[in-house]
Amino acid sequence: MGAQSKQQARAFEHYLPASAMWRSDRPFRILVADDDATSRRLLKYLLEKWRFEVILAEDGLKAWEIMRLQDPPAIAILDWVMPELDGLELSRRIRALDNQHYTYIMMLTSERSGLIDGLRAGVDDYITKPFDAEELQGRLLVAERTLRFQNELIAAKERITQEARHDFLTGLLNRGGIMEVVEREISRSNRSSEQFSVVLADIDHFKRINDTFGHSAGDDVLREVAGRISHSLRVHDSVGRYGGEEFLVVLTGSGSTGALGAAENLRRRVCETPVMIGELERAVTVSLGIATRMQEVSAESLICAADVALYRAKNAGRNCVQVSNVPS
Ligand code: GH3
Ligand code: MG
Ligand code: MG
Repeated sequence: MGAQSKQQARAFEHYLPASAMWRSDRPFRILVADDDATSRRLLKYLLEKWRFEVILAEDGLKAWEIMRLQDPPAIAILDWVMPELDGLELSRRIRALDNQHYTYIMMLTSERSGLIDGLRAGVDDYITKPFDAEELQGRLLVAERTLRFQNELIAAKERITQEARHDFLTGLLNRGGIMEVVEREISRSNRSSEQFSVVLADIDHFKRINDTFGHSAGDDVLREVAGRISHSLRVHDSVGRYGGEEFLVVLTGSGSTGALGAAENLRRRVCETPVMIGELERAVTVSLGIATRMQEVSAESLICAADVALYRAKNAGRNCVQVSNVPS
């Protein structure tokens, strides 16, 4: 991995999606729902011999409860005819669930009639009773392969969704991502009347860094400042890269006094230690503009108010904080 991609991997590592934790070598869990105790015992014996983890249910309703758990089994072997809830209806219900991961459903049936209905209801495969152990083992290999593909697809989709909201250079939220946070905060404060503030932070004379040290050194400084900003914030606050060398911070639950403290803290964190550019030390500062949500307001006008305050901070000599005096 090149230095650039290593840096990018580091920038992104803090938001690895949950499915990235999914391990392909972990055995799948299988739900066996069958009202016949002998059949349940036999299936459990075989499946455990093949190193699956098995969960048993003696009727359709028990199976339905298990499938609604937070982390349901990946494979469901369902008997067609069961008291309370039959395999067909259970399959329909499982398919209607909004589960993050796909459930592979195999139906156990003593006759072939009605199979099309079963497949339509979302069944992936069927085994006729009495079943042949080797055939079942073969079908389970197909189930595992299908699930591995499915899980890889889900992980890729999550990664794409995450990347679409994040800035490639710094790993922070991008403009779209942080605007979603602002919109969410606006709806929340419209409902609860709780205040929140936004802060625009812009690196001072950043162009000089590019001009003196080159664009790539400028990128390193952007990453460093992004890191310092996010470390200066509380866990429930958010920050995104709003534009080139401009960052937007959302301070949840903060009125103007709290926001002023947070912005001052942020300003200090950025300038208190020089940034290393190769062997050289370079002082880097930011100017900040704050706007606090006082009444119903749009995201655009709130950010515009912060931008006006930021402009004043630049005019006041930079490396300072200004508060919007427009009620936002
Ligand atoms: P001010 O104190 O008034 O904000 O001055 P400034 O030089 O920081 O602002 P200006 O808007 O003049 O210049 C911003 C520079 O940021 C220009 C642009 O080339 C640079 N820039 C924007 N995005 C990136 C980036 O991703 N990487 C690098 N290296 N530079 C960038
Ligand atoms: Mg600037
Ligand atoms: Mg700028």
